Amino acid sequence: MNCLVCRGGQMVEGFETYFAKLNGGYLIIENVPCWKCDQCGEAVFSTSVIEKIEKLVAAYKKNSEKISVIDYNQAA
Ligand SMILES: [Zn+2]
Repeated sequence: MNCLVCRGGQMVEGFETYFAKLNGGYLIIENVPCWKCDQCGEAVFSTSVIEKIEKLVAAYKKNSEKISVIDYNQAA
């Protein structure tokens, strides 16, 4: 699979840290599995991963913490 951004790089399996802005704070999700370009570093998440991220973001929207850091693999 070629990178859609730089078109020259190859997408390889990797991990990325995802940042989400909530109403009053931030949610940081570490170790999110993704496809990453070996040339420009562009990260692409699969549909199932995006769905899980959206659920996590929705769950943390009620959280009053300013910054929450969670691990993707430990999140239900
Ligand atoms: Zn690229």
